[in-house]
Amino acid sequence: MALQIVHHPDYDAGFAVNHRFPMSKYPLLMAALRARGLAVPEALSMPEPAPAAWLKLAHAGDYVDQVLACEVPARIEREIGFPVGQRVSLRAQLATAGTVLAARLALKHGIACNAAGGSHHARRAQGAGFCTFNDVAVASLALLAEHAVGNILIVDLDVHQGDGTADILKDEPRAFTFSMHGERNYPARKIASDLDVALPDGTGDAAYLDRLGAILPELSASRRWDIAFYNAGVDVHAEDRLGRLSLTDNGLRARDKAVIGHFRARGIPLCGVIGGGYSTDVPALAQRHAILFEVAAGFA
Ligand SMILES: [Zn+2]
Repeated sequence: MALQIVHHPDYDAGFAVNHRFPMSKYPLLMAALRARGLAVPEALSMPEPAPAAWLKLAHAGDYVDQVLACEVPARIEREIGFPVGQRVSLRAQLATAGTVLAARLALKHGIACNAAGGSHHARRAQGAGFCTFNDVAVASLALLAEHAVGNILIVDLDVHQGDGTADILKDEPRAFTFSMHGERNYPARKIASDLDVALPDGTGDAAYLDRLGAILPELSASRRWDIAFYNAGVDVHAEDRLGRLSLTDNGLRARDKAVIGHFRARGIPLCGVIGGGYSTDVPALAQRHAILFEVAAGFA
């Protein structure tokens, strides 16, 4: 069957093309998925903006209210990296709800992906690092609150450490956070996940995949997971503008196959989110993000 893909045209908040955050990767990713025959009508679902009650499961009430009213203090907007106007606020609500929807589709169909998400630097108190709301943390806490799942695993392979997710879920024993990232990448001050693996600059395909291949069986042996969230950030790529690791396209593909194949072979539902990826060559970047969907489609 078709891989379930969650998308909304307003994932793109329409930043200037030279903005440090490559916003146009969202429509270009959808174009790449259409070109691959993946974005067919029976595959696509669209989220509604996330209700405040979901957002407040993971974030401080006053911060959620500030984002919804587009009244985020300038100090926090600077930490996020862009002003939170109406389009940014809407896109944050949509991308978050998209991950909730993708998680529900994963529970139903085994696997689903959000064509956005992975905003893992947003902490309980506020956003940071291009992240307004932490979609994976919101989705985790929403699923737990409605007793849809009991044990959640978060596999965060974005090149940046998942500090916000670790912060939000540190007192939630039913969610386990694993982050493998570039040691010298943002954030400078990391917040401990349940398991962190920091890699040196320049780590390439072979060393990366070795390390990952050793950890995945340990993760699945430790508990019976009801769902795994997978942040498939492509900023581990050698040509990424921010990442300090050196994976190739084939390395990305092998990474996604290793993670998705591992959990699907054990019957564990998997919800993929795209995570980070930075380049001035946005079409090339969109092709990199499309790899997750190509690989996931092979397991749908
Ligand atoms: Zn990143």
